[in-house]
Amino acid sequence: MSHVFPRHSKLNPPVAVGGEGCYLIDSTGKRYLDGSGGAAVSCLGHGDREIAEAIKAQIDKLAFAHTGFFTSEPAEALADLLIEHAPEGLDRVYFVSGGSEATEAAIKLARQYFVEKGAPERGKLIARKQSYHGNTIGALSAGGNAWRRAQFGPLLLDVSHIDPCYEYRLRREDESAEAYGLRAAQALEDEILRLGAETVMAFIAEPVVGATAGAVPPAPGYFKRIREICDKYGVLLILDEVMCGMGRTGTLFACEQDGVAPDILCIAKGLGAGYQPVGAMLCSGEIYDTIANGTGFFQHGHTYIGHPVATAAGLAVVRALLDRGLVGRAATQGEKLMAKLTERFGQHPHVGDIRGRGMFRGIELVSDRDSKTPFDPSKGVAGKIKKAAFEAGLICYPMSGTIDGKSGDHVLLAPPFIIEDDQLDELTDKLALAISAAI
Ligand code: PMP
Repeated sequence: MSHVFPRHSKLNPPVAVGGEGCYLIDSTGKRYLDGSGGAAVSCLGHGDREIAEAIKAQIDKLAFAHTGFFTSEPAEALADLLIEHAPEGLDRVYFVSGGSEATEAAIKLARQYFVEKGAPERGKLIARKQSYHGNTIGALSAGGNAWRRAQFGPLLLDVSHIDPCYEYRLRREDESAEAYGLRAAQALEDEILRLGAETVMAFIAEPVVGATAGAVPPAPGYFKRIREICDKYGVLLILDEVMCGMGRTGTLFACEQDGVAPDILCIAKGLGAGYQPVGAMLCSGEIYDTIANGTGFFQHGHTYIGHPVATAAGLAVVRALLDRGLVGRAATQGEKLMAKLTERFGQHPHVGDIRGRGMFRGIELVSDRDSKTPFDPSKGVAGKIKKAAFEAGLICYPMSGTIDGKSGDHVLLAPPFIIEDDQLDELTDKLALAISAAI
């Protein structure tokens, strides 16, 4: 019996014992192609010696020094490197241990900023229906994933959820992508006005939606208009790049491709690339200065913020991404993956949409292509694909997302950026097998 609590109690999972490049290996010796990087984590692949050495060197030198007393060399160096490459205006970095901690901190920072600015009436948060921002109470409240929220209703904060930007489902046939982008963004202005602009503190969104929807990119112009609306009403823009950041979409930060810079940016997953649990919240100088000149400190914190070993791993990962040209590789290999998926599934009767950016791709499955009708949830198509793929030696990330019951099953693909062409073929071949087995 396993004493590990609790998620795998029914699954009886294999024991992972090794990792080599794009593969994970279990205790029986079976190899699995990591087609989703776990959940968009393993951007460098497994067994990267350089990262392991950097971690070891840091442990040998200094494992831990509490941030209540000290800063550390790797935390300072990683913050400098992130700010050097971050979208304009982002000026400070707050390190945490993962994605939920990053978004939770972002929500609290937004609130404290307005309190210190002398606008304590601003406390409302707007988010989107099709989104996931983490599993802690604040982050879960911000997310719009009905399934994850279901049991916790009475505990959740009162957050407004507007429609997402989701061309495949919500763009009208007579509408251009640009016109749709503007219409989708208008939902934010409408909600700000409905709530009363002077009460709204922030809008949070994933630039490319991951865990609830399978790599849904925004329509052209959507985020530019969102930025304008936030500026017009003095509302902070929080972008959650926990999944889509750190090169995953082919640029270091996903929002670069939309020509916008947020006031607060959350990253995690790819920052540690699975080698250490590390995340970060980046914020503008204006937010930092307001708090620094007010009470002087952010009323928040965890024991392991800015952990020397975690930030040393993050530093080695970001250097590897930049020095080895891996962000560009995510863009070019990502285009190849898209071409292979289109060739294989473009005419598939049960594939409604193939989408995404860089090494962040999604397939939406439908029971009928013309009407875009989702599969009946009771069929459990996503779960069956996951199981069949795993048996065939492929890790992919299927999910059943839903916005107002309109969408259904998706498969998210997020392989390591180092993936080779023949491994992209292996991925598409095994995925095709899994889809045939499941439907
Ligand atoms: N935000 C987004 C966009 C995510 O995809 C996730 C994790 N899937 C989180 C936040 C939460 O991150 P973590 O699981 O590291 O707490």
